[in-house]
Amino acid sequence: MKVTKHSHQRDKILEVLKNTKSHPSASDIYETVRLEIPNISLGTVYRNLAKLSEMGHILKIDIGSGTEHFDGDVSSHYHIVCQGCGKITDIYEHNESLNELAEKYFGGKIKSHSLVFYGECEKCMETI
Ligand code: ZN
Ligand code: MN
Repeated sequence: MKVTKHSHQRDKILEVLKNTKSHPSASDIYETVRLEIPNISLGTVYRNLAKLSEMGHILKIDIGSGTEHFDGDVSSHYHIVCQGCGKITDIYEHNESLNELAEKYFGGKIKSHSLVFYGECEKCMETI
């Protein structure tokens, strides 16, 4: 019984992430999952997110805001963060040669990299 309940919670969290492009935070995910699993706790959501990212099913994105964001798309891609509204946009590019560039300074083996661009989206530019 316990295993079934736990995997149901995890599946639901994964489903929420696979169905959005908004790169939600743990509390955003909690608010969505709670609509279907009212007795779920924020701690459970955090634990499952840690597990899912450990298993490679989701990505954890650090945009430098102090709040972690999550992505159900685990393909290699970059992100742009709007500093006005916080919107996170996908860039479906990945430049493998950046690993070689970094290696020149490292003396070891670079396995991966992540890249976040910062700017102001069109909507935020209009309102200023
Ligand atoms: Zn914006
Ligand atoms: Mn993304």
